[in-house]
Amino acid sequence: MELETVIGLEVHAQLLTQSKMFCGCSADYAGAPPNTHVCPVCLGLPGSLPVINRRAVEMTVMTGLALGCRIPPYSKFDRKNYMYPDLPKGYQISQYDLPLCVDGMLEFLVNGQRRRVRIRRVHLEEDTARLIHRTIGGESYSLIDMNRSGVPLIEIVTEPDLRSPEEARLFLMALRQVLRYLGVSTGNMEEGAFRCDANISQRTRDGQRQWPKSEIKNLNSFRSVERALTYEEARQRAAIGRGEQLVQETRGWLEEREITVTQRAKEYPDDYRYFPEPDLPPIFWTEDDLARIRAAMPELPLPRWERFQADYGLGPQEAALLTEERAIADYFEACVAGDRTQAREIANWITGELFALLRERGRSISEVGVQPRQLRQLIDLVRRGTISTLTAKELLVAVSETGIDPEVLVAERGLAQVSDEAQLREVVERVLTENPKAVADYRKGKTAAIGFLLGQVNRALGGRANPAVARRILEEALRQPVE
Ligand SMILES: [Zn+2]
Repeated sequence: MELETVIGLEVHAQLLTQSKMFCGCSADYAGAPPNTHVCPVCLGLPGSLPVINRRAVEMTVMTGLALGCRIPPYSKFDRKNYMYPDLPKGYQISQYDLPLCVDGMLEFLVNGQRRRVRIRRVHLEEDTARLIHRTIGGESYSLIDMNRSGVPLIEIVTEPDLRSPEEARLFLMALRQVLRYLGVSTGNMEEGAFRCDANISQRTRDGQRQWPKSEIKNLNSFRSVERALTYEEARQRAAIGRGEQLVQETRGWLEEREITVTQRAKEYPDDYRYFPEPDLPPIFWTEDDLARIRAAMPELPLPRWERFQADYGLGPQEAALLTEERAIADYFEACVAGDRTQAREIANWITGELFALLRERGRSISEVGVQPRQLRQLIDLVRRGTISTLTAKELLVAVSETGIDPEVLVAERGLAQVSDEAQLREVVERVLTENPKAVADYRKGKTAAIGFLLGQVNRALGGRANPAVARRILEEALRQPVE
């Protein structure tokens, strides 16, 4: 009996709006003291009335459009009723039967191959409060921080199209990349701005038999998604192999022990007693509204990756590095500035020296202090032979520290290479006179001796000898007959 793994994901992403979903409180609560970003609406006090955050709705629709979803002309909010301390009003405002976006698809790469996963829906809801569990004086307490309550949250639900834990991780990374390109979410998993629940089940490859699924919660990194699913896949297959019953249930991933454990039997939609939210109007879309949102969308990662290969002659790996973040892709194109002849050289500099500098300083490309124009100038200085590649690498650091243009630094610090033939010839002749043994070795056929002589020329010029010109003059001098 050959088994096939079936995985579907439910992803929650906090939206990067200034205010919360249904009130004017600031949604940027990171680092704020508990319960300081609150008001009667997001505290769920009786009699308070929610107001829809228009920007959050537009961001959700933009996400749906980026995922190729259909945007139905009519959508509404519903109450999802359940009792839990993180939800003091006893219900969450969410969307049930009429979500903002339906029937989409995300295309992404698995080992260089294209994969498509269908998106069932994208809907908008409010985040819940955060519970903090503490032991105080030997007693256990659960404290509630309401700052997160009411932060706009989108839920993206896939069809069960994923077939392996690795695919699930790659899908999630691609989805996060899209959200970040759109600027609708930070996608930060560690901070809880991007969260994932995964459904996993087994079926026979012919689809004749299938087993109940587990829903895994508490996955807070891409790595834990893949590992938890790998664990669960093995657990389900082993149970089936032993002829045991599997039950539909919710399981939690215990990061330290690397296992999943039963949390509770799975709820069904009926358990939530959904009903339309009476305090909010429905949402209607016109084609004009959608055209306006579509027009504000940036080019998406996958098409941009393809275009970078086609337009700039980059390899797939290099194009992937440069399009991983929108800011880096924008930076690269600002450096190229319409002149494609230097595109590959620029790509090398960004993925090599500049990335190394970013890693070393722990900075993002917008914080590194090297303007695209300045990187381009640096590359042009090397191409014209004014400075060596080594000098350019040092200058990159100097530009990042000072913000001064490379051309100015070259002039100020006297870093220009010596390409002047008369000056080089003079130095070469002196070096040859001072190193008769190396010269004799070279003339006896030990051509490697030229490396030593070239080093001496360079040293005499403080490391600024133009290597190509210096080598040519040195070779010419060595070919002269012995006097
Ligand atoms: Zn509020």
